[in-house]
Amino acid sequence: MRRSVKILLQFPNEPVKPFVHLFAVDFGLVFSVYQADITPGQGGRMVLDLSGESENIDKALVFAEKNGVKVRIMSKAIRWDTETCVHCGACTAVCQHKALTLDPVTAELSFNNDNCVVCEMCTRACPTGAVSLDIYQ
Ligand code: SF4
Ligand code: SF4
Repeated sequence: MRRSVKILLQFPNEPVKPFVHLFAVDFGLVFSVYQADITPGQGGRMVLDLSGESENIDKALVFAEKNGVKVRIMSKAIRWDTETCVHCGACTAVCQHKALTLDPVTAELSFNNDNCVVCEMCTRACPTGAVSLDIYQ
């Protein structure tokens, strides 16, 4: 069975051998990197989508952890608080994937989680903290 997962890789402070390309080579997975903020020797994080056979995804995630990287499967990572949102539209200006859009008639914000790639640009742009990162397994 094929499936697709969005994952967060958390790299440790010590050096880690490059391995992400092996997701494709050894496990036949298709991956897209949405965000990477890694400093060699200082750790960091990477957000990516993995698609392929379910069994191979599981094996690849175990393989990543054996390489010293913490793996977290992400789901509905951006939380939109409708109570705090003032519909200013600042987030829509930075959301390149049209996950956050303003209705042209009502000028109200809407959030389409299916389009969200967890780039976190909106969390930095929002003046009220109405969009925030929510990562859980
Ligand atoms: S995390 Fe990125 S893609 Fe998702 S809603 Fe925010 S700006 Fe858009
Ligand atoms: S930037 Fe924040 S307050 Fe403004 S529309 Fe987006 S979520 Fe709402």
